[in-house]
Amino acid sequence: MIIILKPGTTKEETGPIYKVLEEKGIIIQDIVGASTRMIGMAGDTSHIFEDSIMAFPCVERIMRVQESYKLAGRKFHPADTIVEVDGRKIGGGNFAVIAGPCSVESEDQILTIARDVKASGAVFMRGGAFKPRTSPYAFNGLGLDGLELLKIARQKTGLPVVTEIMSPEYLDVFAQDVDIIQIGARNMQNFSLLRQVGELGKPVLLKRGLSATIEELLMAAEYLLVSGSAQIILCERGIRTFETSTRNTLDLSAIPVLKAKTHLPVMIDPSHATGYWHLVEPMALAAVAAGCDGLIIEVHNRPEAALCDGAQSITPQIFQRLMVKIQKVRDVLYPAE
Ligand code: PEP
Ligand code: MN
Repeated sequence: MIIILKPGTTKEETGPIYKVLEEKGIIIQDIVGASTRMIGMAGDTSHIFEDSIMAFPCVERIMRVQESYKLAGRKFHPADTIVEVDGRKIGGGNFAVIAGPCSVESEDQILTIARDVKASGAVFMRGGAFKPRTSPYAFNGLGLDGLELLKIARQKTGLPVVTEIMSPEYLDVFAQDVDIIQIGARNMQNFSLLRQVGELGKPVLLKRGLSATIEELLMAAEYLLVSGSAQIILCERGIRTFETSTRNTLDLSAIPVLKAKTHLPVMIDPSHATGYWHLVEPMALAAVAAGCDGLIIEVHNRPEAALCDGAQSITPQIFQRLMVKIQKVRDVLYPAE
């Protein structure tokens, strides 16, 4: 961390800053240029609050040399994190697909879809029970009954369950019944929910916020990590841009950018990213080619009758064809050692 001082700052003026830094055990290095003076800092500066330094009138600006995310960053944890659930691995060269409907609608629906996606090679099932809908009048999910149906489908297919938590009210139930807890785009910066879910120490699928930067996504992951959760999967699901041809704009470059910055596995959700079923396949294949660690895809046996996100849901038949193509891309670009 470097503090850049305003031109003409005197040694007397910097005295109070030195005092604050020394009290925090920071090693200080005075850097004097021809026209600029700076204070270089070494040691653990994570507990230095920029606002309190900026409050000194002689400070022009502050530059952080290191990222603010320590636990999520590769610098302190160079090796890839491998998230493992029930013997299924994601990350560190292990690729996994999560598939299922946007929402759990009935026992027959979730069971039929879970069986179909499993037969095509999905290793986790998804299905929302608590749905973050824009309209309070839209189908808001079956709630606890939906979780019960997911349990039945897991028991009958063996597929672990990925589903979204919306409120801390159900932390205990999710801790008990859910294999990977999803934090949706709308809750990515619900910091108290992040802390409470992190304390459960369970695997988490953290989706990128609607308008969140990559840095903000990593800081959200940092909340989970600092609270005790080590098994976190990051998920790019499209971001808001000026483009209206698609529901969101899939930020494919987030894959290599994130993989350079963090050791956490990166998944792509081509369904919410595009909003249209016919765009799911090309974007899924592009994401696989770009090196993602997995995909989460919405699949519905009757998209035209789906209670949520039918337009972006692919049928089990299309999913099966897509899985064959995904394997072909992986075989060419990322063959198993
Ligand atoms: C979902 O996956 O069901 C969902 C609501 O996605 P997102 O939070 O990315 O909008
Ligand atoms: Mn959906």
